[in-house]
Amino acid sequence: MTTQSSQRSGDEMTDAGRPRGTRPIPDRAQAIVIGGGIIGTSVAYHLAHMGMKDVLLLERDRLTSGTTWHAAGLMATFGSTSQTSTELRQYTRDLYSRLEAETGLATGLKLCGLIELAIEPGRLEEYRRVAQFNRLLGVEVNEISPREVADLWPLARTDDVLAGYYIPDDGRVNPVDVTMSLARGARMQGVTIIEGVPVTGFRVDRATVTGVKTDRGDIEAEYVVNCAGMWARQLGELAGVSIPLQAAEHYYLLTEPIEGVDGSWPVLEDPASYGYYREEGGGLMLGMFEPVCAPWKVGGIPAGFSFGELPPDWDRMGPYLEKTMARVPVTEQIGIRKFFCGPESFTPDLLPIIGEAPELKNYFVAAGLNSIGILTGGGIGRTIAQWIIDGSPDIDVTAMNIDRLHPYQANPEYRATRTVESLGLVYATHYPFRPTKTARGARVSPIYDRLAAHRACFRDVSGWEGADWYAPEGVAPEIGELTWGKPHWFQYWEAEHHATRNGVIVMDMSFMAKFFVQGREAARELERISANQVAAEPGRITYTQWLNERGKLEADLTVTMLDDEQFFVVASDTAHRHAETWMRRHFGDAHAFVTDVTSGYAQINVQGPLSRDLMAAVTSADMSNEAMPFRAARYIDIGFARVLCIRITYLGELGYELHIPAEQAAAVYDRLIAAGQPLGVRHAGLKALASLRMEKAYRDYGHDIDNTDSVLEAGLGFAVATDKPGGFIGRDAVLAQKADGPLKRRLVQVLLDDPEPLMFHAEIVSRNGVPAGYMRSASYGFTLGGAVGLAMIDADEPINQRYLDEGEWFVQIGDAAYPARASLRPLYDPASKRVQM
Ligand SMILES: Cc1cc2nc3c(=O)[nH]c(=O)nc-3n(C[C@H](O)[C@H](O)[C@H](O)COP(=O)(O)OP(=O)(O)OC[C@H]3O[C@@H](n4cnc5c(N)ncnc54)[C@H](O)[C@@H]3O)c2cc1C
Repeated sequence: MTTQSSQRSGDEMTDAGRPRGTRPIPDRAQAIVIGGGIIGTSVAYHLAHMGMKDVLLLERDRLTSGTTWHAAGLMATFGSTSQTSTELRQYTRDLYSRLEAETGLATGLKLCGLIELAIEPGRLEEYRRVAQFNRLLGVEVNEISPREVADLWPLARTDDVLAGYYIPDDGRVNPVDVTMSLARGARMQGVTIIEGVPVTGFRVDRATVTGVKTDRGDIEAEYVVNCAGMWARQLGELAGVSIPLQAAEHYYLLTEPIEGVDGSWPVLEDPASYGYYREEGGGLMLGMFEPVCAPWKVGGIPAGFSFGELPPDWDRMGPYLEKTMARVPVTEQIGIRKFFCGPESFTPDLLPIIGEAPELKNYFVAAGLNSIGILTGGGIGRTIAQWIIDGSPDIDVTAMNIDRLHPYQANPEYRATRTVESLGLVYATHYPFRPTKTARGARVSPIYDRLAAHRACFRDVSGWEGADWYAPEGVAPEIGELTWGKPHWFQYWEAEHHATRNGVIVMDMSFMAKFFVQGREAARELERISANQVAAEPGRITYTQWLNERGKLEADLTVTMLDDEQFFVVASDTAHRHAETWMRRHFGDAHAFVTDVTSGYAQINVQGPLSRDLMAAVTSADMSNEAMPFRAARYIDIGFARVLCIRITYLGELGYELHIPAEQAAAVYDRLIAAGQPLGVRHAGLKALASLRMEKAYRDYGHDIDNTDSVLEAGLGFAVATDKPGGFIGRDAVLAQKADGPLKRRLVQVLLDDPEPLMFHAEIVSRNGVPAGYMRSASYGFTLGGAVGLAMIDADEPINQRYLDEGEWFVQIGDAAYPARASLRPLYDPASKRVQM
């Protein structure tokens, strides 16, 4: 087998001509990269190419000795509806294509093509959507018939195939060779690579990493990048950095040579059979992603595990293997040369862990590649290097940033429980609203039991049990069959939506991240990082963005001024640690202190035109518009509880957000429900939140706006106080973009004319027949009467409402195009009259 043989024949000398482990180590480097797998070598290569030459790569044993040596080397650009993921794949393929010319070392890249099989209608629908999206980004994808599949792959069974998706420019690479080629390319640029030197600890000064420890002495560094693969978690622990990844068994089988197998055949993938297939040594490699998988060494990865294999668990894998083999029946007759099992790292949400650790400045991580480390390795290396050198990433990293994860997810029990599900999800049909099934109940709101008694259907919200929708009496709160169409609970969601628009609802949002910011300089510091004016008036909430120096969005949240020295900051669950770290790093030594009170306060939202009546019924406080106008924040009494009541909405109606001491939340909830009976109070869940906020075009960071957008492109210029005293971070960039003239890139709300089709994400939006962007996120506008979403539109001319009105807009959903309306102002209540009433 090529992948194994080429590493094992490597000589015992390093590039400096000394036996491994004896080469002198430097006492400083500008950046130290830990780990010589595909990721570490790629990071080092890119740092040097981007101008940082003083880079040291330390490898515990030998290059590729972790996971990289045994990867199957599939290269697929097809498959994702994430722009970031698709672009990482495209960049990686292009890099590997040119690497040999640069370094003189072949990579084994063979662009022999890839075929994805759709066997069931759900998968067909998914692939049609993915194909549209991938084509928009420049990937050539052809839908082919079962006959054409058989022509390209004569040994595959095709009688049950609905369609194949053929990507001629995908294929395979040799993971060891490409790593060696990257390593040579790095050395050619001045990088020092030393094998046989494990990093044993870190040097830290004032929450900043300043170097690493090794058995042969300490090495100072300005930046450290942990690319230690499945060891990354335990290595991170030595620096107090939480990296919640977990190794799991991962399998492929190699057959004896098979007559007729041709090395030029495309790689074949059939997720429904849990398998992928490609030529190897004149026979076939059958790789597998079984639906229920096995975590490996939850207690810690052995330090000396190199070029390691795990004993295959035939009993567990047997039934899956049978199914995988049945797709290529000849494999059932032929001898098995090897059933290989090796460990690979998986993360709680199947997305990589990259970026600067919230716990430690200048400590970067690139690990947890979820079985696509080879095919994204080039792009990951480029991104980390660019991030280190420029200070912020130039692609949307919101879904991959290490700071989206939480320390509890590194607990052994959490990792062991969640990882059982992870690997199988790679090959699952990616239906909308697919719930995670494992490691549930990790975090629950103080009123969880009451909501459960009220038949809430919960979903995982950053580990919290978030009430998504509520079943009526007599109906089980179960998500039921997954579908691309309307789910059985669509009607319950609709009822919650209308109840919010017409009556009053109660919504549990306790998972929101909440911080007190206190101190003599708290006002000054918050003003400095906020684009809006947040410290003008005590008792007032302000919606604001935090920007970086380039004017790009870092956070989208609210700041409530309680008094001159006390503020309450609320961000979404996914932005929790990003917002917290942003404050701590920027406040530095200022007299401004951040306290995370997320666990201390429940958040219950009371929203809808009757919400004032409900609030008046539970408190002695004056809830009139005069006493409690829009954006007012007051402590009020509800029963024995003292509640921070903020008049604000994310749903587009009159409404209040209540922040309640956790131990009094249940009592307050009971009061609200009891007092709300005459008003017809209902529970509403997060599905209703999504549809209500989307009608009003309220943004959601990490979903429809991200770190690649400027605040103006995001349509949030109204929340920027460019002339406030003292300015703010990113102000110059905002002014420069304003001076550049009208924007040619803007976030636009798009509503389908036809009430039937649903939109979820990544549907293509076109103007006058030309693709102009895609749906960053979407929902169903029950009041507007159709699916509605937010799309970032790019144009050659200024984008204003006239440009939108003069165009003919369509949204492509799978194989059909639907007429649509595009608007810069929210289509629901554009003047926000309902919010202010
Ligand atoms: C069976 C199988 C098939 C796969 N097939 C594919 C595929 O077809 N396509 C694809 O894209 N991906 C595939 N993968 C996944 C891919 O192999 C991984 O995502 C990738 O190799 C991870 O690379 P890495 O650099 O993060 O980790 P590693 O390769 O494990 O590198 C980490 C390195 O860090 C070193 N290290 C650890 N601790 C220290 C320390 N303290 N000091 C110094 N060095 C240290 C280790 O020795 C190791 O060399 C497959 C994986 C498996 C198991």
